[in-house]
Amino acid sequence: LYKSVKKISSKKEYMKVMPREIKKVLVANRGEIATRIIRACKELGIKTVAIYSEADAKSIYVKKADEAYLIPGDPIQAYLNYFRIVDLAKQTKCDAIHPGYGFLSENPEFAEYCVKQGIIFIGPKPEHIALFGDKMAAKKKMRELGVSILPGSDEPISDLKKAKEIASEIGYPVILKAAYGGGGRGMRIVRSESEFETLFQSAYNEAKKFFGKGDVFIEKYVENPRHIEIQIMADKYGNVVHLGERDCSIQRRHQKIVEIARSPSLDEEVKKELYRTSVKAMFKVGYENVGTIEYLVDENNNFYFIEMNTRLQVEHTVTEMVTGIDIVQKMIEIAEGKKLPFLQEDISMRGYAIEFRVNAEDPAKNFAPSVGLITSYHSPGGPGVRVDAAVYKDYVIPPYYDSMIAKLSVWALTWQDVVNRARRALDEFIVRGVPTNLPLLRAIVRDEDFINGKFTTKYIDEKLPTFN
Ligand code: ADP
Repeated sequence: LYKSVKKISSKKEYMKVMPREIKKVLVANRGEIATRIIRACKELGIKTVAIYSEADAKSIYVKKADEAYLIPGDPIQAYLNYFRIVDLAKQTKCDAIHPGYGFLSENPEFAEYCVKQGIIFIGPKPEHIALFGDKMAAKKKMRELGVSILPGSDEPISDLKKAKEIASEIGYPVILKAAYGGGGRGMRIVRSESEFETLFQSAYNEAKKFFGKGDVFIEKYVENPRHIEIQIMADKYGNVVHLGERDCSIQRRHQKIVEIARSPSLDEEVKKELYRTSVKAMFKVGYENVGTIEYLVDENNNFYFIEMNTRLQVEHTVTEMVTGIDIVQKMIEIAEGKKLPFLQEDISMRGYAIEFRVNAEDPAKNFAPSVGLITSYHSPGGPGVRVDAAVYKDYVIPPYYDSMIAKLSVWALTWQDVVNRARRALDEFIVRGVPTNLPLLRAIVRDEDFINGKFTTKYIDEKLPTFN
């Protein structure tokens, strides 16, 4: 796998990677996030180059970019073949590449290759992408930095006997996670030794199917936690700030579907402690650009680091709404070598924002991805509403990619107002032709516990079991 970055040897190599003004960016992604990045560039007066697969020829972002190039062949490889992508960036005279999320965004070899080829990678340093991309190494590092973590195995495990031993050492319940994967795949909660073998096998098989390697790691399972994450921003000069927290507890099958800034329920002292801990850790590792540190907060307000994402997150929109800071533009400016234009005390968080992931999934078919023609489409608008969409009427959803077709984000000054606004905006949203998860989202904003800001990661399981 990834070896630590080689030291830059010659002056010529150094000059190639010197921070410099970014005038043109290649967007190495697709869908709504490609549009989001293009918008950020346009506002900064930066030219954009889009790439697209044959399946994405009719996507909106392709039309929004200044230039767009087809990458023929496999529709997924189009966004993963980084030799080709970097070549294209050079040919089209781009200064930098923005990777978005998914695809190449957390590939340290790609980030390093960009640098070596004289292209600015808009994101963290390759060594940090590598470190935090390995969940076990990340936990170890964070523990060294004084952040609490959950007890668990410190290496990938493929052997049943060994796994069982570790599980009984940790004490049930435990959670199994794919060592080389994410997105909730390969996760199993094991409540007692008697069910360990069956669940270990199914976790192993699922991980093998999705990630090529079945190895898992084991962690103490937290009952009824809240998923709270801290948005970090850091420049090249050691200035680190946080942009507050997001509560991403509303999940289906361990995958986020609703994200909220600021948390309506978390204790103010706990928030402050999370901010302090996160900023300190990132300062100590010399982190750069943006990142998100994810924690589980238990019923007694103890918090534990679970993982860090070294990229722009899907749910960055809600942080933008409460802080007024354009995170994508700041990523570009940091990569250019600009200093953060604010201190921590200049950043204020106002009101509440909620993001809803509108997925093309069929609630009647266990939320299987739905593909095909969108026959009717109307997105909500009005005060405090933001839509980051990838689709339109007559668009055909291809079968190769993520099922998220739009993100609806709403903002209001109080929690009660934002929930009312969310209900109104979700009701305005019309997508016909393909089934979506809109019925689930509409049920959430009508549920009393949600309205009262009371939810943990078990929320959908317990409150809306018909949707699980
Ligand atoms: P992934 O990278 O697959 O998204 P994460 O480690 O970020 O996996 O966890 C995703 C979700 O799974 C969390 O938000 C939480 O709901 C649940 N989860 C993960 N670890 C634990 C744990 N130790 N105890 C309870 N729930 C957990």
